[in-house]
Amino acid sequence: MSNYDELRKKLVSHLERLGYVHSQPVKKAFLNIPRELFVPPAQQSRAYDDRPLPTSNGQTISAPHMNAMMCELLKLEPGDKVLEIGTGSGYHAALIAYIVSRNNKSGHVYSIERIKELADFARSNLKKVQLEEMVTVIWGDGTLGYPDVAPFDKILVTAAGPRIPDPLIEQLIDGGILCIPIGRQRWSQKLLILTKSEGKISEKVVSSVVFVPLIGKHGFEPNVDTED
Ligand code: SAH
Repeated sequence: MSNYDELRKKLVSHLERLGYVHSQPVKKAFLNIPRELFVPPAQQSRAYDDRPLPTSNGQTISAPHMNAMMCELLKLEPGDKVLEIGTGSGYHAALIAYIVSRNNKSGHVYSIERIKELADFARSNLKKVQLEEMVTVIWGDGTLGYPDVAPFDKILVTAAGPRIPDPLIEQLIDGGILCIPIGRQRWSQKLLILTKSEGKISEKVVSSVVFVPLIGKHGFEPNVDTED
């Protein structure tokens, strides 16, 4: 067993012990997707630390416990059509693709990234784990959603916006789940979970979180300062 395989198993035990991973499909995804292939070479030795790591352009790959928390909250099912806003490294998209394509079901992830260099980085990472056919990476403003293939069973946003973008609510299927961090200052962001049922939206705050800003038409202006 390689050093990385051991570290991956240790990380999964840690996430289980803390209650972030509690279902078999999420556990299997973490055990099967090598995080070391999604982080820049200079960060590889830290690939299994439970913390965010820098990608490029001042952006980050989320901490594994945050990936786990969102995967569990979304109640991902085989065959789900999922929209992710904020592809970053592609690691979270890979975990989700693995989960929604289990039991030979053809689930799919559409993932939007506003920084071209990161969209290209994610595409090449997804190729390394042979998931490029299950994840479509789109370069663009994710606050507009992706109307071409909407509606989506599940939507997750991995950057924090000032409010929930209307297009995302519109593009969520009835019975669907949307998970998004909201808040201006890094110290005051909240992770929300929204469900749509018979056209009605219900909303619940899950926890305090720290994400990079969501920048776009229904997000912050490009020069936003969310540090204070
Ligand atoms: N899910 C990622 C973590 C991404 S960090 C992973 O697993 O690695 C958040 C990402 O959201 C950053 O890469 C940032 O560039 C991107 N982002 C911010 N605003 C966006 C927008 N409006 N549309 C698409 N991507 C956006």
